[in-house]
Amino acid sequence: MLRQPAAEFKSISFTEAVLDHVLPNPDRVEHGRQALYDTLLEDGLGLQRAVEHLQQDILPALNNSSRSPNYYGFVTGGATPGGEYADHLVTTYDQNLGVHLPNDGIATDVENKALILLCDLLNLDWNVWSHRTFTTGATASNVLGLACGRDFVVKKAGEKSSSSFEGVGERGLIGAMITAGLEHVQVLTSVPHSSLSKAASVVGIGRTSVKSSCLDSTPHRIDMDRLEEQLQSPRTASIIAISCSEVNTGLFATTGIEEMRTIRNLADKYGAWIHVDGAFGIMGRILSSPEYDDIIRGCAGMELADSITGDGHKLLNVPYDCGFFLSKHLDIAQAVFQNPNAAYLSTAPSSIPSPLDIGLENSRRFRALPVYASLLSYGRSGYVDMLKRQIQLARDVAVYISRSESFELLALPDPGASESEIVAGIFIIVLFRAKDPFLNVKLVSRINSSRKIYVSGTSWEGKPACRFAVSNWKTDVTRDLPIIVQVLEGVVEESKL
Ligand SMILES: *Cc1c(COP(=O)(O)O)cnc(C)c1O
Repeated sequence: MLRQPAAEFKSISFTEAVLDHVLPNPDRVEHGRQALYDTLLEDGLGLQRAVEHLQQDILPALNNSSRSPNYYGFVTGGATPGGEYADHLVTTYDQNLGVHLPNDGIATDVENKALILLCDLLNLDWNVWSHRTFTTGATASNVLGLACGRDFVVKKAGEKSSSSFEGVGERGLIGAMITAGLEHVQVLTSVPHSSLSKAASVVGIGRTSVKSSCLDSTPHRIDMDRLEEQLQSPRTASIIAISCSEVNTGLFATTGIEEMRTIRNLADKYGAWIHVDGAFGIMGRILSSPEYDDIIRGCAGMELADSITGDGHKLLNVPYDCGFFLSKHLDIAQAVFQNPNAAYLSTAPSSIPSPLDIGLENSRRFRALPVYASLLSYGRSGYVDMLKRQIQLARDVAVYISRSESFELLALPDPGASESEIVAGIFIIVLFRAKDPFLNVKLVSRINSSRKIYVSGTSWEGKPACRFAVSNWKTDVTRDLPIIVQVLEGVVEESKL
């Protein structure tokens, strides 16, 4: 029987961590997997034994992907102490942030302020970004972006044919498109994150509607002529999706404010919506010194978009799960997400819209609190410092690889780039492979089986490749670079045996 759970759980230390390995010992994984229950117990174990099971069987079999600064897979981030502390409070206080009820508490005010602080950090005017909300992650934010964009572009076309046009939210996609004289809604982009196609499927546009607006020679860069040609497709409405740092390479779709202005002008001319997927790239907006020029230009002009995706659980380093979404069109948000005719949800008119009417979920976790706490704890300079350490490590790894006889750096700005040009182009991701093809096929598993560091496997130009993504707040170049170099050299030595 569950008695006094709060008191008993208090004795559990959440921060105790074994960090000498990134991955758990394989024996513990096997043991943990075998120890899991697969039948519901009639009477239960009791809290004490359930806690022991978690501590003895489950925790030792989890990885340290967020706790260890030497985990370089995906773009995982960590959890700052401020964010982690607040996240425990979120669980303890268990608020539901669906409806803004100003007399019942300040949770929705905290969410609003957290989003305002976040806009401030990212140099975005929160007054302009009137539709602001936290989501479960960048995938959910991309769903919101395409849902809002779809509503907007179909409405633009529909209003030409009828002054009393009812949008997608009311009529559904098919009905609204027929009235608007549309046959397609397309998403024009450079190399996108896989979740953009997933979002296109979810919102009924379809994965095949996601199209490249790039030249084959530069698949990461939007080509303006190609884009305009595609925007002219008859009976077609368009959403332009900007990959603001592509997850495999760290490359940006645009290279400065001028390109973003051109895209804005094209979008206005053809009634398109601009969505920026800045899941982790958006954090480049906090940088200001010249050594980060390439990154700064990659993030420039984001303020010209209609909507933006960002992730909290990546470079913002708050615990999973947390993403955010910003759009300039609060009216579209309400057209898409409004809960109709639910009298019990109605609130007095307020400057804070009820989150359930501007996003996907009705009942929602208080995921704003860790963001608020973390931003407050570290401030702008704390986040700038964190990001600089991450970029420095990525750049140092890139230099090591480019000088190494055994490895080769991939996705270079151009094949003859000098070392300083290579370094300038590196954000937090380093893509590389082993020159020896026999080692290369096993490279990722060899590196990860060290359990000292972890990298992601990917492919580049049809061959296996390996990818570092530096995203943890604990990153420390002096401590971490030697660990990485030692593992890479060990893998090369082992391959010679
Ligand atoms: C990680 C990522 C996503 C998906 O984010 P989740 O938080 O995993 O949902 C989308 N776009 C980009 C560019 C990403 O890096």
